Amino acid sequence: MRDLKKYAAECMSVLDDLGIRYAPIIRFSVNTRASTRLGLCRKRGECYEIEISSLLLDERTPADSLRDTLWHELLHTCRGCMKHTGLWKKYAEKVNASCGACIRRATANGDRKIPAELLPPARYIVRCESCGTEYLRQKQSPLVRNPEQYRCGKCKGSLKRVQ
Ligand SMILES: [Zn+2]
Ligand SMILES: [Zn+2]
Repeated sequence: MRDLKKYAAECMSVLDDLGIRYAPIIRFSVNTRASTRLGLCRKRGECYEIEISSLLLDERTPADSLRDTLWHELLHTCRGCMKHTGLWKKYAEKVNASCGACIRRATANGDRKIPAELLPPARYIVRCESCGTEYLRQKQSPLVRNPEQYRCGKCKGSLKRVQ
């Protein structure tokens, strides 16, 4: 298990060097629920809370995924940066350019930053009846509910829910 405080301090010192001013009071916590959300930033009065998924603290996850997520959330604590546009975007580009980071707007696991073995098993599986490609989903979605209304992204075959 990685030391979140250590990585947070490292990421903050990079922002210091770049002259990016994040909030003075930030509380860090670890989210241990199996979740597709990797990071979250909340404001509570004068204090900001940054929640980081425990999946990012697992040694099997690339450390860069943890750093990128920390920067993403730290930038939300800067003045006028709760959205992913304007100043937040400008800062993200600055960090990306100077550290080879890859801060993106979305920190979902769709980015494949988390090794598949760490993610919870898919609750729903929709399979292509022609080529056998499987579409794994954690949540209910129109695809899961009505697979017959969709086509396989690879071969346009018809889809069927198998789990
Ligand atoms: Zn964000
Ligand atoms: Zn197919």
